[in-house]
Amino acid sequence: MRSRLIQRNLRADPPLALRGEGIFLHDSNGRTIIDGSGGAAVACLGHGHPRVLEAMAAQMAKLTYAHTALYSCESAEALADLVLEGEPGGLAQMYLCSSGSEAVEAALKLARQHFVEIGQPQRRHFIARRQSYHGNTLGALAAGGNMMRRALYQPILSDAFHHVSPCYAYRERAAGEDEAEYVARLAAELEAEFQRLGPDSVAAFVAEPVVGATLGCVTALPGYFAAMRAVCDRHGALLVFDEVMCGMGRTGTLHAWEQEGVAPDIQVVAKGLGGGYQPIGGFLANRRVMDPIRDGSGGFMHGHTYQAHPMAAAAALAVQQVIREEKLLDNVQAMGALLEARLVDRLGNHRHVGDIRGRGLFWAAEFVADRASKAPFDPALRLNDRIKQEAYARGLACYPMAGTIDGRRGDHVLLAPPYIATEADIEAIVTRFGDAVDAALANLPAS
Ligand code: PMP
Repeated sequence: MRSRLIQRNLRADPPLALRGEGIFLHDSNGRTIIDGSGGAAVACLGHGHPRVLEAMAAQMAKLTYAHTALYSCESAEALADLVLEGEPGGLAQMYLCSSGSEAVEAALKLARQHFVEIGQPQRRHFIARRQSYHGNTLGALAAGGNMMRRALYQPILSDAFHHVSPCYAYRERAAGEDEAEYVARLAAELEAEFQRLGPDSVAAFVAEPVVGATLGCVTALPGYFAAMRAVCDRHGALLVFDEVMCGMGRTGTLHAWEQEGVAPDIQVVAKGLGGGYQPIGGFLANRRVMDPIRDGSGGFMHGHTYQAHPMAAAAALAVQQVIREEKLLDNVQAMGALLEARLVDRLGNHRHVGDIRGRGLFWAAEFVADRASKAPFDPALRLNDRIKQEAYARGLACYPMAGTIDGRRGDHVLLAPPYIATEADIEAIVTRFGDAVDAALANLPAS
């Protein structure tokens, strides 16, 4: 042990990431690794993109910080203008902070303030979904339905957050139930939760359009989000989409909700906004939410020292310009289709791969001990960590997730290559991933 940093593992030091270059990371083990998941779906342009580095250097030479009590800054204004160009889905204003969790907290507080300002202060409840993740700060953790992450902190989490079922057809669509019936059942469950809480006491329904860190790239069935929106509208509640992981191009459209045909009132973004070049997150909100606040108290009752930070905004602005100017969403769609096809070729018939799912360059495999019963592996085996290690041994970084299935640990592993990935990159990622899966399973101890 050498490190004085509080690392995820306090007993073993990780290698040092020394240098990043395109889709590669070079580390202190002397290894060159394909960053096949961009960390946790962060590095959307890969590492060291010259346009972003130039923009950061230029910003650094001009202004590194000015407090928002007195000033706005050019880079943050330009970023908001670019992201909100054409007011997608009616989203008209943007708040910027430093992470996904902070952005979720801010979005929840905005929803609460909105209702106080329109004379509905009784709206204090939030309904989110089981098997979701919205961040690790206390409010965001309370909103999330990842029971393993919540368990330790349960006694200090707010009681204003409630959970309904996610749309998780692979496991939760009943035998004999068609897609429309399943969606109707989920809408009825949300309606029942509104009724249980008192429909006029609910501020918002919060969901990830594509579930990321808990279940691994679970897309909703067609019509699901329209049905959820209808329930919210019936009761005057807001719809909040957490696109921290699935947003800003990751699924092949700039916003994941575009593929659902349902726009939220508030949309949280983070990872792909700045691509990891600087810590940044934020939310977009529509006029329905913002106008009563502007016309009422006149200010959002929330803020952080580093909100709308000039350096973070300059980096994110360059990332967003590159995505548009280099037409990278076309590449996300094309390489996403290839990634899907190659994953299905390599692992689709594997007896321990229960489901391969995703959208754009956001894909995951769910591993099962038995395909027919969908029984997960013994959690003590930590299969997803073994796959991560085997992948690293083969020169690939992937993202293991320990989602919960019926309260137990399940094994999902996520791939999220950068938007600049080439066909050769995708081939290399799938080859190494497939070999890692085989090796991890071959080396499992008998349980
Ligand atoms: N929401 C979602 C959907 C996420 O995936 C994450 C991070 N994995 C967060 C919120 C929290 O973001 P951060 O880690 O930047 O605080």
